[in-house]
Amino acid sequence: MAESRFPDKYFVSNHMDSSYSIRSAIQRFTFPYLRRCLLLWKLVNSSTPAPFSDMNRELDATFQAMDNMDESSDVLELRGVQELEKMFKIPSVDIVLKDQNIRHLVQRWFHHLFKEFELNRFKWVVHCTRASPFKLMELPHVYQDLLRRYIKQRCPDCNSVLEEPALCLLCGRLCSPTWKPCCRESGCQAHSTACGAGTGVFLMIRRTTILLQRSARQAPWPSPYLDAFGEEDIEMHRGKPLYLNEERYAALNYMVASHGFDRSSKVLRQTTLGAFLL
Ligand SMILES: [Zn+2]
Ligand SMILES: [Zn+2]
Repeated sequence: MAESRFPDKYFVSNHMDSSYSIRSAIQRFTFPYLRRCLLLWKLVNSSTPAPFSDMNRELDATFQAMDNMDESSDVLELRGVQELEKMFKIPSVDIVLKDQNIRHLVQRWFHHLFKEFELNRFKWVVHCTRASPFKLMELPHVYQDLLRRYIKQRCPDCNSVLEEPALCLLCGRLCSPTWKPCCRESGCQAHSTACGAGTGVFLMIRRTTILLQRSARQAPWPSPYLDAFGEEDIEMHRGKPLYLNEERYAALNYMVASHGFDRSSKVLRQTTLGAFLL
């Protein structure tokens, strides 16, 4: 087909490794949807006896296996897909790709899209983004690297050097807290409205601690960086190297992902309106 090369021109994805075969690329893209099907299936069947309830134990084992999964591990991810395919009795990708009805249907979609592109109705490239579990931004292992990178950065809005830089852990932008604002647009509250629908998680660069923002409410959260003895060093008075504690960062990630701002007693008992001392 002459048009078969046009997807390369119009579809871009940072989540597609060119070393993957088409087969495993399709499987990887289906993984988040299969997991959602599994959650829905589990939910639908949780209050009434499941039609094939003997699979419940198998389901729980799969959930556990997937929770323990190292997200960077391609092998484990593919194994997870295969488990789910087996559970939902989905034929293998090879069989699906050879199915005449499916091929016919896909060709029709493809021709339709091709026509749209040919008529230039789409003026931009389509980015294919994989649905993935919520995750705060990656942080460097050594705190001093983070400090060097952000301490002198300027506010993207008013261009002034931030006195009290606060790094948004949802998008990586530098903001300023309410008690030392550089400008209105860069305030933590204003940014959390635009970036996280009123929810913000900021790393206070000078203090090393976390500031949680939920609309006008704020709460502190312990630093994810500890020294070699497992101690915090707020404002780095001791000046010893600090290292990212993966467990603490994972706990913060979990609290945010599970909407703990409104439920976690650790957050609620320290919540204040407006500024407070961390
Ligand atoms: Zn942000
Ligand atoms: Zn500013």
